[in-house]
Amino acid sequence: MKLTITAKIKILPTELDKEKLLDTIRAVRKGLNFASKKAFRHDCFTSIKLHKLTYNLLRSDYRLKSQMANSVARTVCAKYKSMQSNDVENTLAKFKKPEYDLVWNRDYSLKSEYFSVNTLFGRIKVPYVTKKMEHFFDGSWKFGTSKLVQKKGKYFLHIPMTKELKESEQFNTSDVLHIVGIDLGINFVATVFDDAGKTTFFSGKQIKQKRAHYKLLRKQLQQRQTPSARRRLKAIGQRENCWMTDVNHVVSKALVTNYGQNTLYTLEDLQNVRKATEKVCKRKRYVSVSWAFDQLREFLTYKAQMTKSKVILVNPKYTSQDCPKCEHRAKNNRNKKTHQFCCKKCAYRSNDDRVAAMNLYNKGIKYLSRVSA
Ligand SMILES: [Zn+2]
Repeated sequence: MKLTITAKIKILPTELDKEKLLDTIRAVRKGLNFASKKAFRHDCFTSIKLHKLTYNLLRSDYRLKSQMANSVARTVCAKYKSMQSNDVENTLAKFKKPEYDLVWNRDYSLKSEYFSVNTLFGRIKVPYVTKKMEHFFDGSWKFGTSKLVQKKGKYFLHIPMTKELKESEQFNTSDVLHIVGIDLGINFVATVFDDAGKTTFFSGKQIKQKRAHYKLLRKQLQQRQTPSARRRLKAIGQRENCWMTDVNHVVSKALVTNYGQNTLYTLEDLQNVRKATEKVCKRKRYVSVSWAFDQLREFLTYKAQMTKSKVILVNPKYTSQDCPKCEHRAKNNRNKKTHQFCCKKCAYRSNDDRVAAMNLYNKGIKYLSRVSA
């Protein structure tokens, strides 16, 4: 089994190295746009042909090093291909963002203390924020083609990293120590119920307030319609996303730290819900922030894989209606307004998010007994 994650690393170039990097990124971008025009004009979308058509000029007029010029045709053709698969045809591909694709061991390498990269001015070594990167240097991880990205004067590397998991490092149903049900929501980002009968609530109150604050800001800016308002609107969106990403890292980290190896996490498969029907009222609230839940699921999935654990996604149907004690199913078991669950048959009472987490936990048990049978 292969495990792939993308690390986003902040690199810390000196002022001089910043200039070298920026000059390189800009030259590459110009080269890409030049080759893109050539491809478009000559109807030439295979990288070998485009390479022949552009290589010499990329070297002489655009000052690109030979490896950089080699990558250009490939990057351009890949872009046209992806445009085509998105039904964008007869359009000139433009490269606007300052990005530079780096092939591992040819254009860049990463050591535990520095990042080494090929620029127009030769190779430079740049320190980077090494926190949390330590365990990727144990020899078991492979680094893929990464992207050097410049954003507001800061430099980042996006590196896909792959590891082949040995049998002994993989989740095994017969070794399960913990089963955990996790309900994602608004009042609580995550409500967790585990095999020890313990419930943990990750409060969503702060998130709710922050979202409300951003929403108000957005509304005010939207009414203004000026370029600066539009810019600020975008910036706010980005800040909000960064913040949410942080929350998701914290929550997923807390879960894997708390439960450790051999844990089965059961979450709702909300992708299906979104596709199938939007009329399930409770689920509507997910739509606006669905990317945040997808992200939390993604973070937890790879963190679980790294700790010999597993995330399963189950059908969310009835998780808020079923009684976790007697299995009695009724819509009015749950009072949405008061967030209370009260079973009409056995009178079991609890918080509704907690009940959903319990039902997910039960689905985890059923899954285990099914696969081990
Ligand atoms: Zn009941």
